[in-house]
Amino acid sequence: MHEMGIISGVLDAVNASAADAGAERVLAVNLRVGRMTEAIEDALHFAFEALSEGTLSEGAELVIQMVEPRSLCLACGNEFDHDRFHRICPACGSYETSLVAGRELEIASIEVDLPDDDEQE
Ligand SMILES: [Zn+2]
Repeated sequence: MHEMGIISGVLDAVNASAADAGAERVLAVNLRVGRMTEAIEDALHFAFEALSEGTLSEGAELVIQMVEPRSLCLACGNEFDHDRFHRICPACGSYETSLVAGRELEIASIEVDLPDDDEQE
């Protein structure tokens, strides 16, 4: 599954930075995922639960922000939103378009529980 590979990479990065920060566990992971990655939100959650088991991220909340695709028309300079399948410029009908958003796959932020933090029990 595509999502398993994505989450596996995300968890490697998250667990490594949590460990670097001396965190006891990860509380939340905020991801930005472009629709053009074709990743399915439910499958990402499923993969996260399965793969985080036994790591610092076990039990952490996964928050996913899906990013809608957006392209720039190379013929007329129009910038427009579209779905995964329609990338023709709505202004001039050109196929010569360049994706400017929608392929994101980034960790926007993570929240961790530090040993000195007295707020959490
Ligand atoms: Zn155009």
